[in-house]
Amino acid sequence: MIASADFNITRVERSKLHSMTLENIPFGKYFSDHMLEVDYEDGEWKTVEIKPYQPLLLSPSLAALHYGQAIFEGVKAYKNTEGKVNIFRPYDNFKRFNISAERMEMPKISEEIFMEGMKELVKLDANWIPDKPDHSLYIRPLMFSSDEMIGVKPSSKYKFMIILSPTGPYYSAPMRIYVEEKYVRAVEGGVGFAKNAGNYGAAMYPSAEAKRKGYDQVLWMDAFEHKYVQECGTMNIFFIIGNNAITPDLKSGTILAGVTRESLIELLKEKGLNVEERSLSIDEIVSAFKEGVLSEVFGTGTAATISMIKELRYKDFVMNFDVEKWEIAPAIKTRMSDIKEGRAEDKYNWLVTL
Ligand SMILES: *Cc1c(COP(=O)(O)O)cnc(C)c1O
Repeated sequence: MIASADFNITRVERSKLHSMTLENIPFGKYFSDHMLEVDYEDGEWKTVEIKPYQPLLLSPSLAALHYGQAIFEGVKAYKNTEGKVNIFRPYDNFKRFNISAERMEMPKISEEIFMEGMKELVKLDANWIPDKPDHSLYIRPLMFSSDEMIGVKPSSKYKFMIILSPTGPYYSAPMRIYVEEKYVRAVEGGVGFAKNAGNYGAAMYPSAEAKRKGYDQVLWMDAFEHKYVQECGTMNIFFIIGNNAITPDLKSGTILAGVTRESLIELLKEKGLNVEERSLSIDEIVSAFKEGVLSEVFGTGTAATISMIKELRYKDFVMNFDVEKWEIAPAIKTRMSDIKEGRAEDKYNWLVTL
């Protein structure tokens, strides 16, 4: 473990908090006083700098801008009822970050830098965590290649950073979803399981097309048959059919292994549902809907936790859901925020308390 003495900490002279209130702040728009920055050079990570949040000076030849070696993570910190700071399952994000790094031929980050660096930074900016229900501090670790040279090859230099963004209640209205049959997000052998920047850039056109047709997001299908469900936009997806909660399994490498997905699997079991991780075809979903046994459909992710789906359109067939009558998704959402915000016991050991 690196002791805090090994982090080079430069504090701001005056916090930006004096000039703003942490109420109903939009997601991802404001950043805290400090950031973490560390460079990888000559085969090793150099001194970790925690310093005032500031722009970077970059060369136009920066490798990441041309060839997209760039990965990120999303984690949240909460203040509990006693004012203590809890970070939700950051170790899972650490592991996933290095899985993404490996797939993108980027160096791994050490547990010390990722975990201790994050804790140190969050501690320093703890005042930025709004202590209101459903408010949190969004933690964004990222890494990109930083060679200043044009040439398609893995970079020899990289930069790892962590920035923090306070966020208000992330209300996500029930969504209308378009089952996408033309464009694909991920293919077996590809990078669907990695949180690399390019996945999101490539998804913007199909998502915008869905919006132009009046939908909120697309439901991604497999690349070969356009038949098996993958994910909903940038969220994992769950279907409640009878007493079963079904979510696509991770075997194909096309699904991002969400920490929220993993947590929901536990909480759905706790609620007495039979959880199945398996491949699920759109035909099975349509049949279940027609039989009246498909009761709830929702997406899961760190930003919104659970987003309910009120309409699912496959070709000309429209499936509507009366989300007001749902019992499972709202109950799980409450259970999840009770754990995260310290109102319920952390029986699965998900929280890292500072
Ligand atoms: C980040 C992400 C998710 C959700 O992961 P969480 O760890 O639950 O936030 C799901 N799908 C995609 C494509 C993602 O990028």
